[in-house]
Amino acid sequence: MKDTPQQGDGVLIVGEEACRALVGRAEAFAAVEAVFAAMASGEARNFPVVREAIGHADALYGFKSGFDRAGMALGVKAGGYWPGNAGRGLTNHQSTVCLFDPDTGRLSALVGGNYLTAVRTAASSAVSIAHLARRDAKVLGMVGAGHQSAFQLRAAAEQRAFEKVVAWNPHPEMLPQLAEVAASLGLPFEAVTPEELGAQADVVITITSAFEPLLMRDWIRPGTHVACMGTDTKGKMEVDAALLAAATVFTDEVAQSVSLGEAQHAVAGGLLSEGDITPIGAVINGTHPGRTSDDEITLFDGTGVGLQDLAVASVAARLAEAQGVAARVVL
Ligand code: NAD
Repeated sequence: MKDTPQQGDGVLIVGEEACRALVGRAEAFAAVEAVFAAMASGEARNFPVVREAIGHADALYGFKSGFDRAGMALGVKAGGYWPGNAGRGLTNHQSTVCLFDPDTGRLSALVGGNYLTAVRTAASSAVSIAHLARRDAKVLGMVGAGHQSAFQLRAAAEQRAFEKVVAWNPHPEMLPQLAEVAASLGLPFEAVTPEELGAQADVVITITSAFEPLLMRDWIRPGTHVACMGTDTKGKMEVDAALLAAATVFTDEVAQSVSLGEAQHAVAGGLLSEGDITPIGAVINGTHPGRTSDDEITLFDGTGVGLQDLAVASVAARLAEAQGVAARVVL
């Protein structure tokens, strides 16, 4: 077993604090890149997602699960969205990952999923930038300034020799927090209009909860790489459907891309078909060339899959075991 903890005599408990200490951007990038590759080669499969309004506390609750035969990760992320949590000093998104021994089905680890969700989502767009953005990309455009955006910016900044960050957010009062992250990375930061952002950026990340397009096709220059990371539910939308028709479109998982990802609208409108969308794992595996010219617009539809959660949780469990920082409980 490569990535899962040994069963030992009990269940490993790896809390949020331990995850923060153990799983950095490099570990998350490697785990997410590997699982995208395994998905594209048929070695890893996500199981159908369950997401339900529970009729209490306005909460959405559900499960994302799967099995990665290459990484030997089997498990489920359970959790969801509790909009009233912020008022209680808690994160609105709450999740926990359960890992199981693929040989026996025994529960092997319980891993806090809140920090890991942010770091694996940032790793996803970072993997897309690493494989699809122009090598000479200099300006990073950020659309969105919420919880995830800081993680996105830090991970993206490591992928190219960016010289500047331009940003726009529907709620401008949130931008100073992102400006602080840019400053901590030594990157100049400019708040701009969305049109200016498109005119300047070589790489764009969108990470909002929008339900209508924030970026129009005509604002995006040839050669830009766009990572759409916010749309993870039916009805959400961050960019003009015409942009997907103009771009070469990649995704983490095609089935999610067309049903609940950014591509859902272009596909429903007949501008794009399922067959036009390439799993990023095919680029990682070398079975698709990825970007083929400096004028091509590449677009990554990062929908967020359970296997990403299992991949980073497995790293957390393995490192916690190796470093002796996790508790063991016999059930
Ligand atoms: P957040 O609540 O901290 O921030 C929300 C962001 O969206 C802010 O930039 C805010 O200004 C903007 N926003 C809010 N309502 C909006 C609206 N109606 N129209 C346009 N913009 C709006 O959220 P977060 O944790 O930063 O998450 C951002 C998005 O990313 C969410 O939609 C979340 O579901 C999604 N997400 C995706 C993945 C994935 O794997 N793809 C993982 C985690 C989160």
